[in-house]
Amino acid sequence: MSVNFIPLSVPNLQGNELNYVTEAITKEWVSTAGSYVVAFEENMAKYLNVSTAVACQSGTAGLHVALRLCDVKAGEAVIVPTLTFIAAVNPVKYLGAEPIFMDCDDSLCLDVEKLSCFCEQECQFDGNILTDKQTGRRIKAIVVVHVFGNLANMEHLMQVAEKYHLKVVEDATEALGSYYTSGTYCRRYAGTIGDFGVYSFNGNKIITTGGGGMIVARRQEDIAQAKHLTQQAKADEVRFEHDEIGYNYRMTNLQAALGVAQLEKLEDFILHKKQNYEYYQKAVNDIRGLRILGFEPEIRPNYWFYSLQIDADFPMDREEVMAYFQENKIQTRPIWGLIHEQKPYLGSRIYQIEKATWYWERILNIPCSSNLSKEDAERVVKVLAEVAKRKKDFYKMAKMDDCQLVQKEK
Ligand SMILES: *Cc1c(COP(=O)(O)O)cnc(C)c1O
Repeated sequence: MSVNFIPLSVPNLQGNELNYVTEAITKEWVSTAGSYVVAFEENMAKYLNVSTAVACQSGTAGLHVALRLCDVKAGEAVIVPTLTFIAAVNPVKYLGAEPIFMDCDDSLCLDVEKLSCFCEQECQFDGNILTDKQTGRRIKAIVVVHVFGNLANMEHLMQVAEKYHLKVVEDATEALGSYYTSGTYCRRYAGTIGDFGVYSFNGNKIITTGGGGMIVARRQEDIAQAKHLTQQAKADEVRFEHDEIGYNYRMTNLQAALGVAQLEKLEDFILHKKQNYEYYQKAVNDIRGLRILGFEPEIRPNYWFYSLQIDADFPMDREEVMAYFQENKIQTRPIWGLIHEQKPYLGSRIYQIEKATWYWERILNIPCSSNLSKEDAERVVKVLAEVAKRKKDFYKMAKMDDCQLVQKEK
């Protein structure tokens, strides 16, 4: 019997996407000046309960602009997590600055306790400027990532940032729709708490425009400046006068047409992802050695990605589980390699990284598309349940060739 392939995370374009894109093309407004760009910005701002949002070419571009507006300069430092996608960190380097890598906590987001200890013990603060004693670099900002739709501890993080006069950029690229349900930031969405918030509409995100991003900011002048920089810093539209070095980062009308249609579906997607998440969690947590990581208790997550934790008492390790899923035509992916261990960042400043390594060894992301059917989710669980019945090392032994087995016996 042949079975269908189950992808990890794919777009879901069953709403008004084709209508809106067709309209953009029919009216011949495909570039950066169309009405869908404005509509998408307005609809996003309304959804997020903020006054203004600025559409851009990608989440990475948005982060670049945000960090530039935090006045991060060459030779300075920015605090970043190591357990994330590399696009959260690269913009630091675009500006000639250096990252300082932090550990994660059990939410997989930046460990704010450790961040606080780092500022307290490893830095010097003169009442205005925070300096890393080891490197002598001035620290300007923190990039905090809301990993897989979970929320970082923003309450504590904002206190630390305020105490040490640091700017905060929320990388909310994975967390559009997540918000707090209690505390100081009750009902505030991911991305709307720090100085800047950035979203992504890459193909695997909860809503997609093919590629694209959105910037929000706490201060009105920052958001105006963000818009300015994404459009080549044009001071006079007619005479082409430019007052700064800007970027060609404005979103196109075609992308935005997709975005408007996708945003209409966001809450449906979240509901669907929640149902599959709850099914997975219930079914998988019954299997010894496996666990689906939870979301923080006092939030409404967007359930973007599901994290399967594979412990030592499960018959296969993470790599073996992934290979076995592949044999069964199910796409999974290990959590990202830690950024401080990636080639461009070897030798960067790190601080007490422990949990990130622990989770990196154990986490596998399993299919989570907003159009994943119940039957497909059941197939994923069935594969895991099959493996659970095996004896430990069964697969390792079967894979070893005779030669290795002989050597082992000796
Ligand atoms: C997707 C993602 C980005 C980058 O967004 P793009 O739109 O692909 O540039 C940045 N940070 C994190 C954590 C992401 O997951």
